[in-house]
Amino acid sequence: MMAAEIATDLAEPEVDDGDDDLAHYARNDELDAARKQGRAVKALCGTLFHPHADPSRLPVCVVCRELAAAWSR
Ligand SMILES: [Zn+2]
Repeated sequence: MMAAEIATDLAEPEVDDGDDDLAHYARNDELDAARKQGRAVKALCGTLFHPHADPSRLPVCVVCRELAAAWSR
């Protein structure tokens, strides 16, 4: 388990509306729906975030990356 990394991630000062500073992973259909409706989408890590126009410029959420890697096995 990646408890240490998760704890580190949660310690980041990103709680108040700062979620958009990380590129989270979410299901593509949910991302599309969220973009169209201008709503937040729930990431794999459980964070609610607004889809970013260019997520490739953002640092990837460590928790989401671990979860996505686990899924792809
Ligand atoms: Zn995430």
